[in-house]
Amino acid sequence: MDRIQSRMKYDVVIVGAGHNGLVCGAYLAKAGLKVCVLERRPLVGGACATEEVWPGYKVSTAAHMLGLLQPRVILDLELQKFGYEVLSTPPIVQPIDGAGPIVLWRETDRLAAQLARFSAKDAAAYPRYVDHLAKMGPIFRRLMWEIPFDPAVMSLRNLRDMAMFAWRNRGFVGRFHDVTDLLTMSAYDYLGRWFESDAAMAIMGYYPAGGSGQSVGYHTEGTAYFLLRGQLRDSTTPAGGTGLVRGGMGTVADAIRKSGARFGMETRVDAEVARILVESGKAVGVALSNGDEVRADLVISNASARHTFTSLVDDAAVSSEFRSRLSAFGGHATAFKVHLAVEDLPRLDGIEASGFGDGQPSQITIAPSVAWLEQAYGDLQAGTPSRRPYLTVQIPSVVDPTLAPQGRHLMSIYGGHIPSGPGADHGEGTKQAVTDRVIETIKLFAPTWSGAYLHRHVMLSSDYEQQFGLPGGNPHHADLSLSQLFFRRPVAGYADHRTPVRDLYLCSASNHPGGGVTGIPGYNAALVVLRALGRGTP
Ligand SMILES: Cc1cc2nc3c(=O)[nH]c(=O)nc-3n(C[C@H](O)[C@H](O)[C@H](O)COP(=O)(O)OP(=O)(O)OC[C@H]3O[C@@H](n4cnc5c(N)ncnc54)[C@H](O)[C@@H]3O)c2cc1C
Repeated sequence: MDRIQSRMKYDVVIVGAGHNGLVCGAYLAKAGLKVCVLERRPLVGGACATEEVWPGYKVSTAAHMLGLLQPRVILDLELQKFGYEVLSTPPIVQPIDGAGPIVLWRETDRLAAQLARFSAKDAAAYPRYVDHLAKMGPIFRRLMWEIPFDPAVMSLRNLRDMAMFAWRNRGFVGRFHDVTDLLTMSAYDYLGRWFESDAAMAIMGYYPAGGSGQSVGYHTEGTAYFLLRGQLRDSTTPAGGTGLVRGGMGTVADAIRKSGARFGMETRVDAEVARILVESGKAVGVALSNGDEVRADLVISNASARHTFTSLVDDAAVSSEFRSRLSAFGGHATAFKVHLAVEDLPRLDGIEASGFGDGQPSQITIAPSVAWLEQAYGDLQAGTPSRRPYLTVQIPSVVDPTLAPQGRHLMSIYGGHIPSGPGADHGEGTKQAVTDRVIETIKLFAPTWSGAYLHRHVMLSSDYEQQFGLPGGNPHHADLSLSQLFFRRPVAGYADHRTPVRDLYLCSASNHPGGGVTGIPGYNAALVVLRALGRGTP
């Protein structure tokens, strides 16, 4: 990793080497700017990281699946030249109450045939549903790349921006009600327009009901938006598809770092920024915890908006109104991850008859009914950890044997819900209880599995907050809820990556379009900066 001298002057200093900080830095370096990226942790990637939690095991400790990284970023930065490789995975298998494991074939007709076992109406509705989401996908994909304007400002420039936005997004007009339905309805109500069987509702509703990591349930308004997740990336370009990343998610961050390095981007780890230096209302650099100062013409923060303005920028540099608006931006996560090193793998009861074949699934979804999903959230609302959590049981070493020593496997289990926030008990006792519950739950569907493990590693929301700097442990830095989207993200009036401090910009999941390993906030922040410098587009 590159070293930097204290008091060296850069064009741009970036606080944080999360994937968005690296994307932003790489584009700016490519445009000819002298960029330095400073990361608090000993490794780059933020919540897109691979860590050797136990010797010989490569664990993607936060993000585990590449589903959203945008083809433009992969191709512009030529990530495939720097070790980025996505491995395709077998289809997901989901046990369903009374029916055994169902293979979630990616081909529409094959999954429709599975649904026909439960309801002829659902089997007929499924292709129409897929077609409907495919039509909505491009509308949202375009919106994701927009740099939000402020509709409350009456200036010629703003009116022009709004008019151009309206023109670019004119496809939205004919679909206005569909768009607002997806943004405002619960996933349960939305899916209820298409499907009637409990099985279809459990299969289609799993991700929006829990997989997003937020503290939401199937009936929470606004969760229909998460149904679009599979549409937010075009997988038909030369950038390839989605799946598991060879070597774990940290390989993605490392590829971005290497791509930036060839344009001169410097990256320093174990370099915690203690303060953003502001002189006469303008950001002029940063001071590190070790006393170094790094001066730059402008500063971009990849740290969460909350950390940036509560810990790094002096209160006096921003108005009390800005601070009070930012204090309302947030949301605690209730998801957890359990990583296990194992010798034997769970074999699902009834897998032989499912049509999956002889191999081992690399992903099993545990949510056998709508009632299961509702109960998992109901327990949380009653203030207790879910007795029967929903689970994404991933076994990445099935498709990438380099992740575990020979003869061993890595299980990466994501699930919910565990109460979070002030007063929540996230101690060792809770972690052992979560591990035991996860193993008991898997054994309900794979009774021959020993459940024995060689090592275990549990991450709760407070771990994500402390170790990764995610406020409230939130994968998106703050909930993707209607009041925190688009021109209100992170704060109304400052959704265009600018801040009240001149030459201080934000480039993280705290910005539109939120979290997920997309690269979009990093790209858009670079675009705003290059335009401000009169250098055109990245
Ligand atoms: C459990 C979990 C599972 C997830 N699963 C997926 C998934 O499967 N697929 C997916 O696409 N997304 C997933 N996500 C979401 C995704 O990982 C994040 O939304 C995304 O990585 C955020 O990237 P970022 O660069 O915006 O911010 P971050 O990753 O938060 O990066 C910010 C960086 O700034 C650094 N920093 C903070 N303060 C300072 C300071 N003072 N000085 C120096 N550095 C500092 C931090 O250490 C960090 O490296 C998951 C997240 C979690 C938590």
